[in-house]
Amino acid sequence: MQTLPNPKTATATAPEFDTTIHRRKTRPVRVGDVIIGGGYPVVVQSMINEDTLDIDGSVAGIRRLHEIGCEIVRVTVPSMAHAKALAEIKEKLAKTYKPVPLVADVHHNGMKIALEVAQHVDKVRINPGLYVFEKPKSDRLEYTQGEFDEIGDKIRETLKPLVLSLKEQNKAMRIGVNHGSLAERMLFSYGDTPQGMVESALEFLKICESLDFRNLVISMKASRVPVMLAAYRLMVKRMDELGMDYPLHLGVTEAGDGEYGRIKSTAGIATLLADGIGDTIRVSLTEAPEKEIPVCYSILQALGMRKTMVEYVACPSCGRTLFNLEDVLHKVREATKHLTGLDIAVMGCIVNGPGEMADADYGYVGKQAGYIALYRGRDEIKRVPEDQGVEELINLIKADGRWVEP
Ligand code: SF4
Repeated sequence: MQTLPNPKTATATAPEFDTTIHRRKTRPVRVGDVIIGGGYPVVVQSMINEDTLDIDGSVAGIRRLHEIGCEIVRVTVPSMAHAKALAEIKEKLAKTYKPVPLVADVHHNGMKIALEVAQHVDKVRINPGLYVFEKPKSDRLEYTQGEFDEIGDKIRETLKPLVLSLKEQNKAMRIGVNHGSLAERMLFSYGDTPQGMVESALEFLKICESLDFRNLVISMKASRVPVMLAAYRLMVKRMDELGMDYPLHLGVTEAGDGEYGRIKSTAGIATLLADGIGDTIRVSLTEAPEKEIPVCYSILQALGMRKTMVEYVACPSCGRTLFNLEDVLHKVREATKHLTGLDIAVMGCIVNGPGEMADADYGYVGKQAGYIALYRGRDEIKRVPEDQGVEELINLIKADGRWVEP
């Protein structure tokens, strides 16, 4: 007869009971006062959509994001004037608010712009497909090895000054590959594939390493989740083979807006995080950037990687539910949502509720018509009339010394 482990004595260390996410070991990369990788908490980032030439607007946008928990803020620098504006933005932030870790995005043939902006920000993001941009030839049928290498040499030549500048200042670089903007020579060699994305990043990585620069973060974004997942996983595999331990920035590009945009981003980001892959995340929504931050935190909280809000456990309700669960959950949430760190369960009935509260700190459970039971952990503490439920829950939390005023 098969012997099943006793759930009461089985320990969490047994592999089949291991519920911890084991994060891939990465090197720590400093961006201002924030560290990406190295076992530090997954960093949340976003990007302002103000024109960087609008100094006051950009300062306000960066501050708005930082105040709600965005730990690194990205700005775009399409021209030299934009790069220079960053000097003023940085100064103004420090004077009127505080220093915020900033990343500048440079695009087509952006070497000179990158060199300028590297003086003012903490990290420069380059896109390997655009950094040395060769306009695709519509009549091209092949890429010879000679042509491929020639551009490779040009990339090295233009990347070197930026690498040396960042190295000297101990700043960071993100090698941000985008599926939608792979260089033509990569498309000819590897196709429009995750492999092309990975080779594109590796080419830049190897140049950086040859210059002894390792403050690097890598991203492999795509707008299709399966492509993005395959690209990140292949990147991890290749880095492991090559003994590289660079942290990864996760994101699904052009995820869109609304509910589907959030689900799509979560499908990509959370799948990798659950496998231990990823050190910083950005949820890209076609909405105000402030809307991205709560989604990032919800992903991290759901995975148990950061606790930034109360964790509510609530049953979906069914025929056994003894009160209007939606209303009660709303009331409980309104009264307790500031108690970050607590897990609170709201369950419809005494039959299944207590067993399914997932070890919540407190439980509010339907007991009988007109009455609810309050739980501390697995213990029923008292039975109270339903209309006093929320108030009594607060009293219980207060009596335990775990209440703070909102
Ligand atoms: S806890 Fe009770 S009320 Fe809620 S879904 Fe389960 S059986 Fe139904």
